[in-house]
Amino acid sequence: TTAGGVTADMIDEMARKHFPFCMRYQHEELRKRKHLPHFSRLEYGLFLKVLGLPIEEALIFWRKSFSKITDDKFNKEYKYNIRHSFGLEGKRANYPAKTCMQIIMERGQKDMECHGCPFATFASENLQTALMSMYNVGSQDMGEILHLVKGQHYHVACTRVWEISHGVKKGAGLDGESVTHPNLYAAKSREFEKA
Ligand code: SF4
Repeated sequence: TTAGGVTADMIDEMARKHFPFCMRYQHEELRKRKHLPHFSRLEYGLFLKVLGLPIEEALIFWRKSFSKITDDKFNKEYKYNIRHSFGLEGKRANYPAKTCMQIIMERGQKDMECHGCPFATFASENLQTALMSMYNVGSQDMGEILHLVKGQHYHVACTRVWEISHGVKKGAGLDGESVTHPNLYAAKSREFEKA
């Protein structure tokens, strides 16, 4: 279900403030490349849908983001799949957004791909650089995050990043929960901001 209320022009700011690493990374790649590969369009698109971006705004968002192509190409090659993911084409299924477990199992990031859980797919150097620049993770906390990642406790690392970037104490989680779904991460961050 779509909660609504989110518009295409809100996404840049929301990505910076509320998106988990996987979605923030894909958003930044979209801005850099003016395009995203197939699995990212699907994974990131479903996340945005559940975040509350309605179909009309999703079409605006993707059309504007793919700024190097013509309207004609967009309508022919991308519009159908976006409408499809909202259950408006084909078998009209209301596809849910993927859970962390599903995203972690995907192990994307081959070639130009950028879907998947970056805690699982990034090399250590890139992971540190990205966490510093995107989430202000300092050197004191970095060791712990890397240790968690080494033990393949990706969602625990992600929960720690939520705590650190929201200034809540270790173990407090997202309002007592740990990250099991990218949309939970974002929803809890938006609630936190309002509280
Ligand atoms: Fe995304 Fe989940 Fe990985 Fe966090 S643990 S980066 S929300 S897939």
